[in-house]
Amino acid sequence: MQDDKNLPLRNGATQLVFGEGNPEAQIYFLGEAPGYWEDQKGRPFVGVAGKLLDELIESIGLKRAEVYISNVVRFRPPENRDPSPEEIASFQPYVDQEIEIIKPRIIVTLGRFSMNKFLPDARISKVHGQVKKITWNGQDVTVIPMYHPAAALRADEIMKQLKADFKIIQQTLNEPPAASADSPSADGSKDKEKKAEQLNLI
Ligand code: URA
Repeated sequence: MQDDKNLPLRNGATQLVFGEGNPEAQIYFLGEAPGYWEDQKGRPFVGVAGKLLDELIESIGLKRAEVYISNVVRFRPPENRDPSPEEIASFQPYVDQEIEIIKPRIIVTLGRFSMNKFLPDARISKVHGQVKKITWNGQDVTVIPMYHPAAALRADEIMKQLKADFKIIQQTLNEPPAASADSPSADGSKDKEKKAEQLNLI
């Protein structure tokens, strides 16, 4: 991705913001695009919305390092404007590769841009917190759309709903996983190293 000179938004941004976290994460959080602090630090969700995301993750008994956090767009749009459909489409192959490597049990979309990747006609006010089982590039995945943490910081009602929706992640994780051809092998540590290497090549 670093060498892909066709990617949009590169010129106005400080640096590329890769996804980060556990290559074997059960939960993959997909946000929108880097903001000011993400652009400065080169890491996803490290500003105010990121602090809230960390707290929400901890509220369900997990640590940030145990999950994977990424964005549909990897360069900060000027003035934090919404990413365009063309910009989102340019980064799509990289997002798909991450998902293909990590094979998360649950994809949590944060905000409407990442939700629309999997559920193009959905309205976030209707479907937030609902567990959607879909097939994505031949892979069975569970998608749980949620409001973006930045929206929750602007409205108390959305904050309440986002907190309640996080409990759904916990409930879904507690359900037995569907039998899958990709169940962990005996040598889990090797798998993790291999996935980390593959992610570094994106
Ligand atoms: N908002 C996002 O959608 N992504 C980030 O990384 C930070 C804020």
